[in-house]
Amino acid sequence: MRSNVLRTVQNGLRCLPRRPVSHKSKVAYQSYRSFIATPLCREEERKWTTPLAKQLTEAINTTGPIPLASYMRMCLTSDTGGYYTGAIEEGRDQFGRKGDFITSPEISQIFGELVGIWFVAEWLSQGRPRQGVELIEVGPGRGTLMDDMLRTIRNFKDMSSSIETVYMVEASKELRTTQKNLLCGEDAVMTESKIGWHSTCKYSGLPIIWTDSIKAIPQDPNKTPFIVAHEFFDALPIHAFQVVEVPPNQKPTPTDSNASTISVSRPGSPPSATTSPFQWREMVVSPTPQGTTHADLGTPKSQQHDPVPEFQLTLSPSMTRHAQYLPEASPRYRALKSTPGALIEVCPDASLYATDFASRIGGSSPTTGDSTTATKPQPSGAALILDYGPADTIPANTLRGIRQHRHVSPFSSPGLVDLSADVDFAGLAETALLASPGVEVHGPVDQAYFLETMGVRQRAEMLIKKLEQTQNRGDVEEKKREIERSWKRLVDRGPGGMGKVYKVLAILPENGGRRRPVGFGGDVGV
Ligand code: SAH
Repeated sequence: MRSNVLRTVQNGLRCLPRRPVSHKSKVAYQSYRSFIATPLCREEERKWTTPLAKQLTEAINTTGPIPLASYMRMCLTSDTGGYYTGAIEEGRDQFGRKGDFITSPEISQIFGELVGIWFVAEWLSQGRPRQGVELIEVGPGRGTLMDDMLRTIRNFKDMSSSIETVYMVEASKELRTTQKNLLCGEDAVMTESKIGWHSTCKYSGLPIIWTDSIKAIPQDPNKTPFIVAHEFFDALPIHAFQVVEVPPNQKPTPTDSNASTISVSRPGSPPSATTSPFQWREMVVSPTPQGTTHADLGTPKSQQHDPVPEFQLTLSPSMTRHAQYLPEASPRYRALKSTPGALIEVCPDASLYATDFASRIGGSSPTTGDSTTATKPQPSGAALILDYGPADTIPANTLRGIRQHRHVSPFSSPGLVDLSADVDFAGLAETALLASPGVEVHGPVDQAYFLETMGVRQRAEMLIKKLEQTQNRGDVEEKKREIERSWKRLVDRGPGGMGKVYKVLAILPENGGRRRPVGFGGDVGV
């Protein structure tokens, strides 16, 4: 089996260096060099950094190199040692100064407060529904964003009493407990049901239900769902593809038995693989052969004192099943198929979530919706997606690894390194609009624009004023400086600044574009 893997890798091209781009480092798919054969050592001699590394290697030795998405899924949410879902040592935390990364809600309470206000504005604009409102957060981390949102919404009594249930979609058992402790109190019990885990919020006694997937939340056309996703989509597994030019006499070589049964042919799509010299090839993950050096991998200088990554990304030498249909799924990808070397990242899970959000808000499209979701007589609700990624181009070469606030190889210490990739905002918009005739999409706008038009400066001034009135101790000045520092960090438009790198996209009930939401250039339309 092992020789199979090596043969595949040797036949393929090897992805080499990583280079820091923008605020987090990214894998450079562009640089390849031919594989350097290295002496084989017996597998049992190899010391793995994590049990997941060993498990992945054994799986790859059986199946051959795996899609990047499979590697990411295992690293992030596998039961055995996934970054979010694995058993973590006591006291370890992914978030905050002592963790691996810090997110906007953890930087300033103003972030969650303004997101809460945005949903209040939507609730007002949609005729103040008195009942049937659901708050849904996907990927809630420590629960800080929902806590700040609920504390804010509590001040708007009519909206607060219209909320029936708060849903938290969270894959990690540990994080579900952290969120419960924050939102319900350490003593509050969690009970299990068919849907998920239930407890009661310390704010107004609202019921909170945790699920591990959005599919578990019932879809009811009479509900008004307000959905928030902050730094969730960047954690979903991506597939990566590159266009190669195939010599005319070389036929496509599917690598799996299902490949020949899939045929994607649409009006306007480019000629099929048999007549076109261009093919999409998938980037796949395999173990680095023993003896591989940083020089072989072209590791950036800043990472050369780290151990050599145990895995590598290579271009599959033959057609994979995913390469046959995923890059054909959108005209945006198909337009690149005659550009040799073109790279794209495709996130099928992101499409599933965008489709779900759109059909909850606008009802499902009769052609694309699945039969379990109903059409919705009166579209209602909203989704707010905040994340990083380009406003309109297709992400390429954006996978990054983060550990303890440092850029590290995404192919090192699987399960201990956070992996993320840029979000394809234009792709999310396209998917949502296709999924439901009852929605429209606004944005993406830069986070700086969104927060500034939502009143971040004014809110900071209010907090500072309150501090001056209520505090008479000596640390007031330091607290004031901290408020200033943190809100300014959220709207920083400098190179790599959060105000520019992070974007905000809204999915709303279709209204012919007549009403723009606040934060996107509009006003509250009451
Ligand atoms: N929104 C939070 C946390 C972002 S980190 C913040 O901004 O601070 C990503 C979050 O998504 C974590 O809570 C992680 O456990 C969760 N997550 C990652 N992949 C998931 C998946 N496939 N399904 C459900 N939750 C997931």
